Amino acid sequence: MFGGLLNVSFNNHNEQPEIAGQLQRSLKRGRLAHAYLFHGPRGSNREAMARTLAKALNCLKNTHDCCDACDSCRRIDAGVHPDVYWVRPESKSRRITIEQIREFENAVNLKPSLGRVKVGVLVDADCLGEEASNAFLKTLEEPPAQTIIILLTAEPQRLLPTILSRCLRISFGPRDERTVSPYRAQLAPLLAKFTTADGQRVVNAYQLLAGLTAALRQIQNEIRQRVEAEMNLDRYEELEPKVREKLNDQMEARIEGEYRAAREQVLEELYAWFGDMLICVTGANDELLAHPEQAGTLRAMASRLSYPQAEANVDAIERIRDAFARSISESLALEVGLLKLSQ
Ligand SMILES: [Zn+2]
Repeated sequence: MFGGLLNVSFNNHNEQPEIAGQLQRSLKRGRLAHAYLFHGPRGSNREAMARTLAKALNCLKNTHDCCDACDSCRRIDAGVHPDVYWVRPESKSRRITIEQIREFENAVNLKPSLGRVKVGVLVDADCLGEEASNAFLKTLEEPPAQTIIILLTAEPQRLLPTILSRCLRISFGPRDERTVSPYRAQLAPLLAKFTTADGQRVVNAYQLLAGLTAALRQIQNEIRQRVEAEMNLDRYEELEPKVREKLNDQMEARIEGEYRAAREQVLEELYAWFGDMLICVTGANDELLAHPEQAGTLRAMASRLSYPQAEANVDAIERIRDAFARSISESLALEVGLLKLSQ
């Protein structure tokens, strides 16, 4: 009935120790995101990781991992825990239907009955049809309290950008196949400058903030120009004002959706950069770095940081992503997050 392994705790997710570590850190600090997207090829442990998180959140014995032995852990492994709700595509149509999403919504909106936190998992979330996607988006926009939603997919590109942008994305692919942010080259000089600057800490943080803000505005303008050209609303000269207004709204929604997805990729690159710095602080081999070509630059700052500082930096970037996913003001989230960075 289930894909993936049972009886796996965070401490023995041997294939994905970094992801298990990241989720466990967030759990310890009480800072899990409301919604996650676990993406990666089939057979990459996404489902087992979702189950481990559900167990750890509700385990009766342990607080930051699962014991795999208590009543709660065993119920979750058996798929019969009332607070852990799984949705899978219907076998015939390979679709997740709107009826399933309505049931899901009802289930996650109830208070936990046995456990502490409700967990809703959408297996193969790319099988959401259009109608079901829109219904699901409403749940994501107003996430129920004490609930964590996890989407699993091998094909994230098939999900609506507005859904993607509201989830914290975690890649389960092999390290060298993980998607490189398309903004890596654009952001590299900015990050390298921040990492090697020897000026005042606050000045340096504000320079990074100004550079990132400018890059985001440029990305947003490019998206706007491209979408406006593609939709070309000016070609309809004699549109009724109401129809024009509706088309305009659709266009603005598309621009916003695409921008949020792009901004997530910018954050992905920051996350990779400060993740690399954490790896450097541990003294690990350059082979593990996402930016092996920047090893020298990264090590310059890493040599000044303690492990907790480097870990807190990764955490600060995670907080920005979390704030974006919850639609907190972009400039505020960036300023608060970047000023926290140890240098
Ligand atoms: Zn347990």
